[in-house]
Amino acid sequence: MLAADDRAAGPTKTLGFAFVGLGGFAMNQLLPGISRCKFCKPVALVSGHPDKAAAVARQYGIESANIYSYENFDSIKNNPGIDVVYIVLPNGMHAEYTVRAFGAGKHVMCEKPMANTVEECRQMIDAAKAAGKKLQIGYRMHWDAPTLACIDALRNNEIGPIQIIETETGFTIGDPSQWRLNRKLAGGGCLMDIGIYSLSAARYLSGEEPTEVFAHTYQDTADPRFKEVEQNCDFQLKFPSGVLASCLSSYNANLNRYAVHGRKGYCVLEPGQSYWGVKFQISRGRGLEAVDVNEADQFVGEMDGFAQALSGNAPFKATGEEGLQDLRIMEAIYESAREGKSVKV
Ligand code: NDP
Repeated sequence: MLAADDRAAGPTKTLGFAFVGLGGFAMNQLLPGISRCKFCKPVALVSGHPDKAAAVARQYGIESANIYSYENFDSIKNNPGIDVVYIVLPNGMHAEYTVRAFGAGKHVMCEKPMANTVEECRQMIDAAKAAGKKLQIGYRMHWDAPTLACIDALRNNEIGPIQIIETETGFTIGDPSQWRLNRKLAGGGCLMDIGIYSLSAARYLSGEEPTEVFAHTYQDTADPRFKEVEQNCDFQLKFPSGVLASCLSSYNANLNRYAVHGRKGYCVLEPGQSYWGVKFQISRGRGLEAVDVNEADQFVGEMDGFAQALSGNAPFKATGEEGLQDLRIMEAIYESAREGKSVKV
């Protein structure tokens, strides 16, 4: 138990992180991000490519003895320097490696989407409980300052009671051979990868959980990219207060905007889900004004935030239950699109 003064100052111990999967997101965002953290540092790497791992280890001052493969991953249990395992693998591998990391007695951060299915999410939550360890999902918006300022404005009723939410997320995907277009590794198409932001934003901005969904998906199987997964998905969410959300996602168009319409005015986050430079604008019944918010570092926020929560200085955010809830709703979205009717959540 930390003393009160220590709690105010933050964790007394810097947490050692092991990164599993050295792909684009780990290399370009998370490893540079953890280097800016106060309470976390990279101490181990897990990769299928030893040469790449050795080069990354040299760059970040990680001992070569702390480079693991997927085969000897479970031996991290013998390494007391590793406190947290950060899973940055294709979606279809999240559940297996999260469960194995809990088996090794470590805390886990796991990228979004939490897993391919609700069932896998439950296994991950059960494994955390059995190990007595914590799980956080890699949602960034909980630490994004402009997003948090928008949520404050909404909760302070600055635009009046919320009526309609629009969320749009998408990008144009390239290489047809990548794992994101492979159903087994990705769990689905644009909805699983980028549409999850449209969903979680609608939930976070409304502050409610949807009770009903209605969805359409579209997939041009003549396009080599979309042989296995949907390219576009639009869905509507109905919330208990009567708020309706209209949500778009695409692997074939660039979309990055959230808007919340109230009785008196509206808020816009555009771009809405970028790593940097999310822009918050508000109309309180007159013109649209930009709100100047000091940008916070989302990557430092999520990793130092987990360290703070583990030491009792902050609440846990982006928990496994949060990730499970998105999967539960995404399964309902796919069911609605398949059946052509609305589905209760
Ligand atoms: P990449 O394809 O760039 O990297 C994935 C890495 O996983 C590979 O480099 C490889 O690492 C490892 N891997 C192990 N087995 C396989 C396999 N069968 N096929 C492909 N890769 C494999 O993906 P991203 O880094 O873009 O995405 C990783 C995770 O991060 C995903 O879950 C994604 O949704 C999430 N993500 C989250 C973002 C966010 O903003 N929160 C943004 C981008 C991604 P190695 O060579 O070291 O073995």
